[in-house]
Amino acid sequence: MSEILVAKNITKIYGIGTSHTFEALHGVSMTMNEGEFICVMGPSGAGKSTFINNLSTIDIPTKGKVYINDTEVRSMGENEIGKFRYENLGFIFQEFNLLDSLTILENIAVPLSLANLPQEEIEARVKETASRLSIDSLLHKYPNECSGGQRQRAAICRALVTHPKLIVADEPTGNLDSHTSHEILEIFKELNDQDGVSILMVTHDPMIASYSQKLLYIKDGVIAKQVVKGDLTQKEYFHKIVDVNSAESMSLFEGE
Ligand code: ADP
Repeated sequence: MSEILVAKNITKIYGIGTSHTFEALHGVSMTMNEGEFICVMGPSGAGKSTFINNLSTIDIPTKGKVYINDTEVRSMGENEIGKFRYENLGFIFQEFNLLDSLTILENIAVPLSLANLPQEEIEARVKETASRLSIDSLLHKYPNECSGGQRQRAAICRALVTHPKLIVADEPTGNLDSHTSHEILEIFKELNDQDGVSILMVTHDPMIASYSQKLLYIKDGVIAKQVVKGDLTQKEYFHKIVDVNSAESMSLFEGE
């Protein structure tokens, strides 16, 4: 099985060159195989966003190496990284990050327009992806005319329109109700099962995490625990995830 993402001894220190430095990740290593769906959980401030940002070219670690699809991220220049992101990565955020002045179609087309694809191909690819996510009827609306779930579907479309190998999602359902969150996770699961897209997702919700195949529990800047779904049912895996989170919360009462 080939590896889509390898991190070796990643350390992230914020504030270098100032009097306030803070080490948010302490020599973290991990390997993600192609087609894996990994979820990242942990208390607020534990380093989850730092972890996925440093693993996905959004930020560069202070020490250590990251390889995505066998390419070392630090070995690339800014222009190369842009092209590399376009060819390999799709990003989805809690806030959707759609541009309000563009229609949904234009928003989804942004990565393709930036890559200077011909207009006809752009439209064909946007329509194909939008149809897959059942938002064809929204293409000529503006984001503020759409619900939160519709906007997140549009953001997923924008992430998928380049056919990425790896999707990086930071709290993708953080602003959605639970019914819509499950719909979004069903889409992730289908992409993962049917298309073999690898997914690295941060969430604080054990139910959402139960759609993944592996949980990395981050605490104080290290991977403190891992849980693998293996042959467990989604319900059994969900209970294990709840146990890991509640054991963590219970530790706060130690000494009482
Ligand atoms: P999480 O996503 O788990 O809530 P973060 O990765 O956002 O945690 O943050 C981890 C730690 O690093 C926190 O203590 C946070 O205050 C600190 N941190 C995050 N970003 C910065 C930054 N740009 N400068 C300084 N400290 C930061």
